[in-house]
Amino acid sequence: MIFDPVPKESRKDFFDREEEIEKIKSLSSPITLVLGLRRTGKSSVIRIALSELDLPYVYVDLRKFEEKGYISYRDLVLELQREINRLIRKFPNIIDFFERIEGVKIMGNEVKLKWGGNGRVKISSLLESINDWTENKAIITIDEAQELLNLRGANLLPAFAYSFDNLNKIKIILSGSKMGLLYRYLSEDDPKSPLYGRAMNEIELQPFDAEKSKEFLQSGFKQLNINFNEFNIIYEKLGGIPGWLTYFGYYYYEERDLNKALSKTISTAIELIREEFDNFLKTRAIATGRYLTVMKTVTNCATWSEIKRALEAREGIEVSDSEIYNYLNQLTDSSWIVKEEGRGYCPSDPLISKVFS
Ligand code: ADP
Ligand code: MG
Repeated sequence: MIFDPVPKESRKDFFDREEEIEKIKSLSSPITLVLGLRRTGKSSVIRIALSELDLPYVYVDLRKFEEKGYISYRDLVLELQREINRLIRKFPNIIDFFERIEGVKIMGNEVKLKWGGNGRVKISSLLESINDWTENKAIITIDEAQELLNLRGANLLPAFAYSFDNLNKIKIILSGSKMGLLYRYLSEDDPKSPLYGRAMNEIELQPFDAEKSKEFLQSGFKQLNINFNEFNIIYEKLGGIPGWLTYFGYYYYEERDLNKALSKTISTAIELIREEFDNFLKTRAIATGRYLTVMKTVTNCATWSEIKRALEAREGIEVSDSEIYNYLNQLTDSSWIVKEEGRGYCPSDPLISKVFS
């Protein structure tokens, strides 16, 4: 069902995005990036591509570490351990390939990966074992990979670069909602970065425009045999992010009342966006008030000087240009705001405005 508010695994529950799914499936570079705002369907297109490719894969979702603010090596290794044991259940012969590497203990039909102390497991060795084992290709997916910026005590970039250059059967898929952060993490353009100059297969999921939003709702309601025609007001109120349109369809199916379904969707959105913004602020506690002022000021878009004026008015003190530059950069890199030609800084999703107005 198109309006089921969970990530989809199959095209029968999914609307459009054929080109994007095909591009992921092409695995045309050792590393594929799937970019797009939250709730544009990244996890769904990846899961659909994985299920259609039918290749062995590992799937790690780092979203849950956002709230914690950091990821320890232990967290990451335990996620991989779970996925590797899932692979072993499916392909028992793979276990022999893990046996030889440092930091792997075989316990019956399972592996335990050593995350601390002497001789901890190396991610590059795990990738190498999978590469040696697999006949065709194997896929390593890290969903919300920008969270790796907060990985403590390890750096995955050298392992990615090693895999890119040497492990020709390993294909890595990285997704990111905070696109600026993901680019910053990969720093492909920085000669000092291990991934410098590596060309990646890049897919960006844009929100739907008015026409696509209408078609999305039409196909969802058609599946449910519901007659619905108020497309314009939905796009006007919710914008074109598929995740919000999915909630709307789901609530309308429950309520059969346009206003009730709209207001439920908006309350759900406000609640989720608040939580996500609180996570953003966790590591920036000292500047909380300033970030909130910026977000309030840009609800209907604002220029640099309007933002500066608002910040200074709140505190009655000069706020330097470099500080303002820093706040706007952080908000942009985490995809809270976008700079729009002629309008200045605007919320990246129209529903973000509702939280701060
Ligand atoms: P992301 O990983 O980008 O945050 P998800 O894949 O979790 O996005 O999608 C968010 C929500 O929107 C999910 O409920 C998903 O099923 C739904 N969704 C997104 N795009 C589509 C689409 N094209 N067709 C059907 N449902 C979609
Ligand atoms: Mg996702």
